[in-house]
Amino acid sequence: MTIGSSAANGSRLRVVREDSDVTQWRTWLRDSTLDPWRPGEWDPETLVFSGDEHNPLTFVKRCPDCGVLITRKTYCEYCLRKHRREKLRARGSR
Ligand SMILES: [Zn+2]
Repeated sequence: MTIGSSAANGSRLRVVREDSDVTQWRTWLRDSTLDPWRPGEWDPETLVFSGDEHNPLTFVKRCPDCGVLITRKTYCEYCLRKHRREKLRARGSR
């Protein structure tokens, strides 16, 4: 995969081109995955596996603050950082 950037017209444009390895990987993955496989968890179009918090075979749960799926025991990264900032502010730091 090649990633480039352009600052034309003052905007930041990110250009991503797939190389043949990524294309081959996607083709192999689509051809090698059962259809359907883990309905509601696996999206064969985007090749994204998100998991289901109610499926005991999947180790995901919901962030207690915002509800996004996470694999850690506490909060999602955003909420974890938010809590750290709040904790630091409470201590009088920035
Ligand atoms: Zn969260």
